Amino acid sequence: MELEKLLERCEPVIGLEIHVQLRTETKMFCGCANRFGAPPNSLTCPVCLGLPGALPVINRRSFELGVRAALALHGNIQNDTGFDRKNYFYPDQPKNYQISQYELPLALGGYVEIENDSDAAKKIRLMRMHLEEDAGKNIHDPDSNSTLVDLNRAGTPLLEIVSEPDIRSPGDAVLYARSLREILRYAEVSDCDMEKGNFRADTNISVRPRGSGELGTRTEIKNLNSFAHLRACLEFEIKRQAEILESGGQVLQETLQFDPVTGRTSSMRSKEEAHDYRYFPEPDLLPVFISEDRVGEIRGSLPELPGPKRRRYVEDYGLSEYVAGVLTADRESAALFESAIARGGEPKRMANWIANEVAGQMNDRGLAWDECPMTPKMIVELEELIADGTITRKVGRGLFPEIFGTGKPPSDIVREKGLAGGADLSEIGRILDRMIEEKPKLVADYKAGRKKAVNAFIGPVMRKTRGKADAGEVVRLLEGKLGAPDEGKS
Ligand code: ADP
Ligand code: ZN
Ligand code: MG
Repeated sequence: MELEKLLERCEPVIGLEIHVQLRTETKMFCGCANRFGAPPNSLTCPVCLGLPGALPVINRRSFELGVRAALALHGNIQNDTGFDRKNYFYPDQPKNYQISQYELPLALGGYVEIENDSDAAKKIRLMRMHLEEDAGKNIHDPDSNSTLVDLNRAGTPLLEIVSEPDIRSPGDAVLYARSLREILRYAEVSDCDMEKGNFRADTNISVRPRGSGELGTRTEIKNLNSFAHLRACLEFEIKRQAEILESGGQVLQETLQFDPVTGRTSSMRSKEEAHDYRYFPEPDLLPVFISEDRVGEIRGSLPELPGPKRRRYVEDYGLSEYVAGVLTADRESAALFESAIARGGEPKRMANWIANEVAGQMNDRGLAWDECPMTPKMIVELEELIADGTITRKVGRGLFPEIFGTGKPPSDIVREKGLAGGADLSEIGRILDRMIEEKPKLVADYKAGRKKAVNAFIGPVMRKTRGKADAGEVVRLLEGKLGAPDEGKS
């Protein structure tokens, strides 16, 4: 049956559990480097290898980054927290337990705001946030038909962020995950690089009859490492569950995996096989107390976050929601905009350059904002060349890919290309502006296509620049200001 038809009668209910790798120098309970891409097992020690007798020590920084993240997400920091053992066997976790927070998580509550096209801003509430260590990685090697284990990642710090089942569509699930990622990157707690596994989502999904206040039986899909997969697996799963319900059947509570090639989910384990983790307090670590003063200090060190920044751009600079959204999507793009203004750039003009031309070039070239070659100075200078009449806006836009690609100052490119001609184009521009203002008759003649009018503009320009101006250049500037004249009259 069509998904749309099913959705008239069935309502999806979605909750996400997101694991975020915290950006520390060292691992969570030992001094090994927290770094991606090193040779396998080169970043290990007795603690993260789980050797008998090795004792963990809490990395203060990982704890503080967790608090920072939780505050950025409006969570209530718990002053008394602690760690528990979550017991299960897995080859990439040699201790046979994971140190996690169960009874006393770092934070409770909090929310993430999302804005889709149809609703007003909507708050997705959070249940809890807790710290835990990551496991290593199993690498399935088809050549030797064996599985290898790399423990470089074992013991690196994660923050798990668990949402309430407040999400009602795959699109909103993606918006939620995107906003969350944006906030955490602003707060500089994680790179949230999905390709490196810095940001991984598990999604829980159930379907219920519209109007019902009860939650249906859910399935859980683990380890989604792209927004496209998150959306696709939810779409598949909503249809599958809705069809079961429509035909009077029952959804089985189970853990699923998503195959991006077929676009289908399949069973990993059922509820009967669910783990019993036998949590108990980690005996090798003391409980942790964090004072309100320290929480206050960390709160005070947070930068302005994307939501408030977006609203400020709209209110203070009169930007559209769309442009403000593009500018604040990354911390670097917002910083570029703000520095351009600080250098005297006119806010709306700066916003348009960045949201259109800069963002367009970045997109075409597949660059991330922290690789942007455009400096605020270059954007301000380009706009100045247009404002003082040296070049037209159209020429400026045309030059943009070259400015972006070479990283040269716009004025150099204009000079090299001879666009500024023999005379100072800004001077010609000013002379023309004055004539346009003072001689409406001449402007009208020009617009009506009288050739003599063009000469009537060129003459005075030549006189005033003592012949330095290039007639072709004057005509081009004039066309930039008044448009091309009508054809064929004399
Ligand atoms: P567990 O203890 O099995 O991990 P939790 O209560 O911690 O379960 O919930 C895990 C995630 O599943 C949360 O994000 C929550 O919002 C979501 N969730 C719980 N029940 C449902 C449901 N019936 N439908 C959809 N999502 C759900
Ligand atoms: Zn170690
Ligand atoms: Mg859970």
